[in-house]
Amino acid sequence: MKCTVCGQEAIIKLPSHHSAFCEKHFKKFFLRRVDKAIRRYRMFHRNARLLVAVSGGKDSMVLWSSLLALGYDAEGIFIELGIEPNSKSAMAKVEKFAASRNATLHIVDIRDYLGATIADVSRKINKTTCSVCGMVKRYILDREAKKLGFSIIATGHNLDDEAATLLGNTLHWQEGYLSRQFPTLEEEFGFVRKVKPLILCAEKETLTYAIIEGIDYDSERCPFSRGATSQFYKHTLNLIEHEMPGTKSYFIGEFFKRISGHFHKSSEPSKLVPCEICGYPTSAGGKCAFCRLKERITTNLDIVK
Ligand SMILES: [Zn+2]
Ligand SMILES: [Zn+2]
Repeated sequence: MKCTVCGQEAIIKLPSHHSAFCEKHFKKFFLRRVDKAIRRYRMFHRNARLLVAVSGGKDSMVLWSSLLALGYDAEGIFIELGIEPNSKSAMAKVEKFAASRNATLHIVDIRDYLGATIADVSRKINKTTCSVCGMVKRYILDREAKKLGFSIIATGHNLDDEAATLLGNTLHWQEGYLSRQFPTLEEEFGFVRKVKPLILCAEKETLTYAIIEGIDYDSERCPFSRGATSQFYKHTLNLIEHEMPGTKSYFIGEFFKRISGHFHKSSEPSKLVPCEICGYPTSAGGKCAFCRLKERITTNLDIVK
């Protein structure tokens, strides 16, 4: 297998792009894909200040690394979720990466917001930890971005993540979720703009980039993860991709191009009002989901005492 560009020994074959690349030309290809996503979905300008949500996992570290390689002013933010021993080792890896790239890293402890860790949440309440954890992370990221003066948050969702989400949302016709599934979510209702610059990069590509760049990422699965469904969708899409290379990319790309606008228009703009406790926008009225969770946790902690 030879590199399509230079004819030297290739390290990766990409049937969906009818290409194979050596290390040097894969890196160029990968960065061009990130740049293309940024321009195609009008994510941000050259001189934008970006806050990158880094978990220590492969994709968020690759995102940060590639944005820095493309010359963007990108600072990282890590939320210490208090999941032991994963959080500590993930944080050490993120700190090491930031130091190696001379990049600024912000660290925030979930306890400073919630007064409890995700491990506490999982023990005290009877709800899927992943969805609660996602809600808490979105809340903290938004609040911290504003506090630190950022108007753009970048997250490491890749093509496989988004295609699996789209498949799930389509199979169950989740119109609300479909209307919000887009690589760029504008700043609105007091939320900070969210972007996904790895949207055109497949999992296999982010993994290869991580290895080439020598990124020491955290590969531990979250002990509370029950992500069996999304893993199943990813596996199913990979079976299809194997027979029909390019399907994942077409599935997600055409949805953004032709379909998602329909959901934007058809779904009623939800009316958001400020939370009565923290002022964060909420559709429920009264207290936002985060403040309700915090209240439940505190109450339950009292009972335990
Ligand atoms: Zn080459
Ligand atoms: Zn609130």
